[in-house]
Amino acid sequence: MSNQRPKADVAIVGLGWAGSVMAEELTRAGLNVVAFERGKWRDTSIDFPPAIDPDELRWHTCRKMLQPMSVETMTFRNNSGETAAPVRNWSAFQFGWDVGGAGTHWAGMSWRFLPWDLEAATKTKERYGAGKIDADLMLQDWCLTYADMEPYYDRFERIAGTSGTVGTVGNIKGQTFEGGNVFEGPRSRDYPTLELKDTNWMHMYRETTEKMGYHPFTIPAGNISQAYVNALGITMGPCTYCGFCDFHGCGNFSKSSPQVCILPALMRRKNFTVMTETEILHAVKHEDGKTVKGVKFATSDGEEGFQPADIVCFTAYQMDNVRLMLLSGIGEQYDPESGKGTIGRNYCYQTCSSVTGFFDGAKMNPFIGGGALGVQIDDHNSDNFDHADLDFIGGAGIMGYSINGRPIQNMNGLRPGAKRWGSESKAACARDYQEAAAIFC
Ligand code: SF4
Repeated sequence: MSNQRPKADVAIVGLGWAGSVMAEELTRAGLNVVAFERGKWRDTSIDFPPAIDPDELRWHTCRKMLQPMSVETMTFRNNSGETAAPVRNWSAFQFGWDVGGAGTHWAGMSWRFLPWDLEAATKTKERYGAGKIDADLMLQDWCLTYADMEPYYDRFERIAGTSGTVGTVGNIKGQTFEGGNVFEGPRSRDYPTLELKDTNWMHMYRETTEKMGYHPFTIPAGNISQAYVNALGITMGPCTYCGFCDFHGCGNFSKSSPQVCILPALMRRKNFTVMTETEILHAVKHEDGKTVKGVKFATSDGEEGFQPADIVCFTAYQMDNVRLMLLSGIGEQYDPESGKGTIGRNYCYQTCSSVTGFFDGAKMNPFIGGGALGVQIDDHNSDNFDHADLDFIGGAGIMGYSINGRPIQNMNGLRPGAKRWGSESKAACARDYQEAAAIFC
């Protein structure tokens, strides 16, 4: 191939959170890393300074940070008997695009899995017996336990600057403290930065759930509460609760993202190269068919080339990783009829639901908001309650949150029956902007 680049130790495909974390670790270990990103370069000061970040029309309504449908579409069907149809509205799907990927526009809710989540099959059988698991429920443990993951969660939080309930955190080395999440797995130490402050709605939700006997806690946030120098020596600024957070970038260097937390260190390393607007077509295998020797790419000018590398990491969005593995002839494609194959099996996305309540005369002031600003109870999450007489396993965290006060979006959240036009509609907007509050699972 004529357009062959110099050999690298590692080729990284997709420069979002996963790609930038891996590139940081591998370059620090001395390896020569080339990262490929099919989108453009994105940086805080150029793309979302404070004057541009709150542009709701651009970022939230038009979703300019998400994968453009004109470039890449996808088809969908509910079962293999249907004809797949093109998706015309991403709805809840939030595919990242450009450098930083979904890590740039995410809300910043920085959860660790609960220990049960990683061993759901084993723990369910232990507590309720094997008969609890329905024969056609595809349930298995992850290959890692919470104890295996803890050092890596801790490392990530030190890079991301994660804010949480410091001092009264839920579970330090097995000792639980009220005020934090008493249901979480043991942490080796506190969060690196203090928890965010309560809004009016969070305060109401906390007081109410406490009175009901539950255990409310401020959720761990990648909207950091105070200035912080992270584990890579990069300075982050405190969140201003600007309310234009998920789907937006952050102009204050306060939202944990690859741009803010990793790339400033990574871009200074001589053994790191990034190729933007360059799409990976597939990995190329060695003649033995068992290992790969690099990746084939195409630039935005349509020029194709080859990047030789000893290691190839697919760190794009999950569906793109699956697509790339199938295009590269790696692994066995999942077949829903036979249940065989692992590539593409059990894909699942955010299974969330929410409800909005209206509080007559309240002043919720939703213009004070953040992507990860909420108070949650985990009493009904995971296996934190007895399922013996229930016909399901698992559960959900239940959160009162103050995620945004975006004016355009909130005009869609009026009380049922509110007029949609004229002066009555305007009055309803003004009233319900202040009186609405959401609970999210
Ligand atoms: S809410 Fe905070 S973290 Fe989110 S964009 Fe605004 S300042 Fe940044």
